[in-house]
Amino acid sequence: MTMKAQFEDESNRTVVLEKGWIQVKVPVPFSLKWVNSYLIPETEGYTLIDPGLRTDAAIRMWDESLRTHRIQWTDITRIILTHQHPDHYGLAGYVQEKSGAKVYLSRRSHAYAIRLWSENSTFAEELQNLYAEHGMPAELRAAIGANLSTFTAMVSPQPEVTYMQAGDSMEIGGTSWKLIDAPGHANGQLCFYNSERGWMLCGDQVLPRITPNISVVPGESGDPLAVFLNSLDELRQYKVTLALPGHRDPFTDFAGRITELQEHHERRLLRMRELLAEEPRTAFAMCETLFGSRLRGNAHNLRFAMSETIAHLVYLERKGFISSTLSDGVFHFALSAV
Ligand SMILES: [Zn+2]
Ligand SMILES: [Zn+2]
Repeated sequence: MTMKAQFEDESNRTVVLEKGWIQVKVPVPFSLKWVNSYLIPETEGYTLIDPGLRTDAAIRMWDESLRTHRIQWTDITRIILTHQHPDHYGLAGYVQEKSGAKVYLSRRSHAYAIRLWSENSTFAEELQNLYAEHGMPAELRAAIGANLSTFTAMVSPQPEVTYMQAGDSMEIGGTSWKLIDAPGHANGQLCFYNSERGWMLCGDQVLPRITPNISVVPGESGDPLAVFLNSLDELRQYKVTLALPGHRDPFTDFAGRITELQEHHERRLLRMRELLAEEPRTAFAMCETLFGSRLRGNAHNLRFAMSETIAHLVYLERKGFISSTLSDGVFHFALSAV
């Protein structure tokens, strides 16, 4: 399978893939660098997958990229969102206003978006309470709460949504795609598989060079890491010749990347058990040991690291390798007695 771009525009923001698909690298103001949108030609107009985060830079880039490809906003006839994270969902309402297109999202993803960004959202407080129980100092919790509130503008206006669900099939780009439930990174996320070509639109579930973030969400009692690893096992069953991810570039070794991700988590879990063999720790202490205290200056990255650390500890506790005790309102984790 050749992945050679037919051409790239001056700013290298768009790449024309096979079948006339256009990969658009939408800038995001985080270390992720960009989020991928895909413009897919239809008999009439285009389907747009994941328009990106709403920032002035992203809107400028869209105006330029559409002009380069001689596409009008009103040529976008449908918007499909793989999941609800702001870097994918944020511009959906804006593009819907410009184009009049329907926005498709899973019901579960939409519920989460409403929970985060509705006017009466209590999510930021709930997250800070969760972090307090896991030993994070108050000033860092406050910085994370403040950082979270900056996202509301980057997802506004919010779209009117039409639901789609796992198990459905959708016609996209003249061929049929199966919708696959892909939870763990974002509950409600969908991947899209076309068996004829062996193409998988995989959202953030399987990314090249980046390990998808796995977060414990306040008020959700599950085990997101176990759910994520199970989803990877399921996705591995599909014969994939080309994976189209939410970040970085399309890639071919889908099963190989799944193995790498699973091995990454196995190493991380083992390292945590070694650290807890040295001494019991809170999740925050574990997070600082693993990721370093430099994260204290970056509320966004600290939130990802902290939620991911809690997810790994929850996984180990559910497997019985470690146990937690609550003292003065803070959980302390220790290796289970053998
Ligand atoms: Zn995501
Ligand atoms: Zn993403």
